[in-house]
Amino acid sequence: MSRAQSMEKIARKVRVCVKCPLWQGRRNAVPGEGNIEAAVMFVGEAPGYWEDVKGLPFVGAAGKVLDELLERITLLRGNVFITNIVKCRPPKNRDPRLLEVTTCTSLYLNRQVSLIQPEIIVTLGRHSTAYIFSEAGLEKVENITEFRGKVFEVSFLGFSVSVFPMYHPASVLHNPRYRDKLEGDFRLLKAELKKRQIL
Ligand code: URA
Ligand code: SF4
Repeated sequence: MSRAQSMEKIARKVRVCVKCPLWQGRRNAVPGEGNIEAAVMFVGEAPGYWEDVKGLPFVGAAGKVLDELLERITLLRGNVFITNIVKCRPPKNRDPRLLEVTTCTSLYLNRQVSLIQPEIIVTLGRHSTAYIFSEAGLEKVENITEFRGKVFEVSFLGFSVSVFPMYHPASVLHNPRYRDKLEGDFRLLKAELKKRQIL
């Protein structure tokens, strides 16, 4: 089976998954999308309203912020892979629960990461950062502020990958001051990608 076929097989399983309680409230599960040869993966938290309507990641207001940030550093959405730690929208956009995160990631995100084997995983927000840090056996992430904007070389799922935590793009919607911080983090990401000749 080709890498594309394996990814499509994961997506098909996600769309009909009933392995954790979140399936009950969803319209569409959101497997993720993008380039399966990508050197960079963006991992957010969970689908929101519009993602659930469309079955696609980051297509609502937070997605618009993400698109603008990507455009600023000339990183094309089609050259990265974008997904979330949980694939179904939690009721009223509440935080995903530990059981939901462990169930969903062990079935889907981990397989997606293993297939793509990205050089860099950009974790968007506290939840995805905390998940990967915990899997990598690093310290507990309670507040993302001390971690964001830095590169961490970690061992995740048995291979080495650089993790680059950032504030969640939705933070800008709650507080416009986060836009500067996110733009700064994206500039650092750009420098890192240039250094590695990815961009
Ligand atoms: N927020 C997320 O974390 N993921 C999405 O796909 C959309 C909004
Ligand atoms: Fe399945 Fe993940 Fe959806 Fe839970 S969130 S039902 S584990 S796809």
